[in-house]
Amino acid sequence: MGAMTGKVVVITGASRGIGAEAARVFAAAGARVGLLARDAGAIAALAAEVGGLAVACDVADAGAVAAALAQVEAAFGPLDVLINNAGVIEPIAHIAEADPEAWGRDIDINLKGVFHGLRAALPGMIARHSGTIITVSSGAAHNPLEGWGAYCAAKAGAAMLSRVAHVEAGPAGVRIMGLSPGTVATGMQVKIRASGINPISQLAPDAHIPADWPARALLWMCSADADEFRGQEIALREDRIRRRIGLIA
Ligand code: NAP
Repeated sequence: MGAMTGKVVVITGASRGIGAEAARVFAAAGARVGLLARDAGAIAALAAEVGGLAVACDVADAGAVAAALAQVEAAFGPLDVLINNAGVIEPIAHIAEADPEAWGRDIDINLKGVFHGLRAALPGMIARHSGTIITVSSGAAHNPLEGWGAYCAAKAGAAMLSRVAHVEAGPAGVRIMGLSPGTVATGMQVKIRASGINPISQLAPDAHIPADWPARALLWMCSADADEFRGQEIALREDRIRRRIGLIA
């Protein structure tokens, strides 16, 4: 029996990177995983690999997110865990030059996408007095970075939204937290490096942690051992957290 045996888990942005690794880690722990992303082929292949359910969905579309969660619940039962992980770094541009449509699209995905997940998951979790919702945050939620106006603003908004959700749903027994993973070796960091625009883009590829680390952190955050962090954001950069999860000695 794994730590998540029988639990129903939805992961947004599961087609690659942190989300795909989280799907593998949660499935290995016994969870029934619903995989959401726009790349239908990638999530279908991963669903076949881990025994999950793929639902192609754009998190910027509130109705699509609600329908996707309903589809997972119809197949597997009531939702126990939602991982709001889907995100984009684009547009990388100075505010003075950014394309308003591209800027708004970042907010639609990185901020409103998190709202759409919370909006769809919370009513059932509040009614059942149980459940965990983790939003993948970023150091960019708390630090201004050149060229990342949209990303920083959206991630700051999502981090605050997660705290508001804790205030509103925490008393009903819903566990709500954020995870700031540090820099992770995914396609997003490849795009960041290619931009050359700020200190993060100068980091050598081997400076990043593997996607398996935030995936394992997310699994640990679903355990009672992480209860003291309800309503907070956990920073995976911190050695005390890495040690606690068993990522380092
Ligand atoms: P990634 O490899 O680029 O993966 C991003 C995932 O988000 C993909 O599965 C993508 O799937 C999905 N996604 C993007 N837009 C979407 C949309 N509109 N609807 C549904 N899914 C969408 O990036 P990653 O590094 O794994 O990032 C995962 C999360 O970690 C993001 O929230 C990111 O901001 C955060 N993060 C990453 C780092 C890092 O260093 N990598 C650091 C801090 C925070 P589709 O394209 O198939 O839709």
